[in-house]
Amino acid sequence: MSAPSPSPATQATNKVFTRVDLDGHALPPSPAPSSPLSGRRRYALATELVHTETKDQYGASSIPIYQSATFKQTSANGGNEYDYTRSGNPTRTHLERHLAKIMNATRCLAVGSGMGALDVITRLLKPGDEVIAGDDLYGGTHRLLTYLKNNQGIVVYHVDTTNPDRVREVLSDKTAMVLLETPTNPLIKIVDIPTIARATHEASSKALVVVDNTMLSPLLANPLDFGADIVYESGTKYLSGHHDIMAGVIACNDPMLADKMYFTINATGCGLSPNDSFLLMRGVKTLAIRMEKQQANAQQIAEFLESHGFRVRYPGLKSHPQYDLHWSMARGAGAVLSFETGDVALSERIVESTRLWSISVSFGCVNSLISMPCRMSHASIDAKTRAERQMPEDLIRLCVGIEDVNDLIDDLSRAVSALTLQAAASLLPKATI
Ligand SMILES: *Cc1c(COP(=O)(O)O)cnc(C)c1O
Repeated sequence: MSAPSPSPATQATNKVFTRVDLDGHALPPSPAPSSPLSGRRRYALATELVHTETKDQYGASSIPIYQSATFKQTSANGGNEYDYTRSGNPTRTHLERHLAKIMNATRCLAVGSGMGALDVITRLLKPGDEVIAGDDLYGGTHRLLTYLKNNQGIVVYHVDTTNPDRVREVLSDKTAMVLLETPTNPLIKIVDIPTIARATHEASSKALVVVDNTMLSPLLANPLDFGADIVYESGTKYLSGHHDIMAGVIACNDPMLADKMYFTINATGCGLSPNDSFLLMRGVKTLAIRMEKQQANAQQIAEFLESHGFRVRYPGLKSHPQYDLHWSMARGAGAVLSFETGDVALSERIVESTRLWSISVSFGCVNSLISMPCRMSHASIDAKTRAERQMPEDLIRLCVGIEDVNDLIDDLSRAVSALTLQAAASLLPKATI
């Protein structure tokens, strides 16, 4: 899989400035390139998450925060491993190497947010390039793609990526990138990554398949193993787990591609700060225990709601129409689910009368969150488009935390008195997802 070749404009500029490497091909790799495939024995993921090696001079068991913008050089020519934190910092490198191992990649890059990660990735595109993305995308992704379409000459198709045929219809040799997210949010639809990756690479050998793996985290899925060229995640969510930092991570196996993205990070200065790298590293170590508890809670809550007649969307339920597809790619169902009550007013009342569930956007945190996507995170999508995408206005999204599950269920049941529960159940639509 090769990186896209330089645009005619870049080639022309390169002719003028023959010694300026505008595309960054001739750059050295990011300091201390990640090398998880060093031949060392691999342990189970839960073990690898907490197992790290450092060359720290004092043997610190937790990587120190190198809160320094510059690093002294030993010769006038520089040449030390680090010189300036925008280009590289030991705390960030340690995190990147650890994440590369966890994400099953040869290289990982850490930046200031999930959207920052997508910005770095989309800078691989050139005017005229075509991007195919889903129609039930994270709102921020939709916003950035729209910006690229309106300002950078990128052609963007939004199709239902949960149906590979819809993707095939727009694939061509002009396709430069296919952007996938699974499960989608908040409709919890599943995207067939291997099938779409194969079709994409057949249509164009230069096209990149990019997967946003934020909803599952590397504990539950490694899309690089299913044909993705680049995987990115918001580190703000499960990876850090405490809603106390913003971060984004990018993983890939193609060194040329990694160098190009590193070039952008160094050129624009969006690398993750030393302090946030430290916090993300600390968060990642507890990913397994948090996610296991969160999805065990989510499973019980999904079953509780389903048994009370609500229409629940969660890939941990056998009733999910794409249950088999999800489990062919993932090791767990995650901890985000949504359900319908059949009545917008009832949904509002439920959301407002829970006490343990905070009304908030985002997910992946240790405490549980509740929201109404059509009123909150997806309110920027106009009502007509929401209707076209079959997004129910009464949809409630739950992002399950690590609390005692009985407390969470009690809080939900209290919010819905037994009577309204039955009334709501009788209103439920019978349609499928
Ligand atoms: C939150 C989120 C992002 C963006 O990440 P930030 O860290 O908030 O910039 C991207 N994709 C998905 C699926 C997300 O949930």
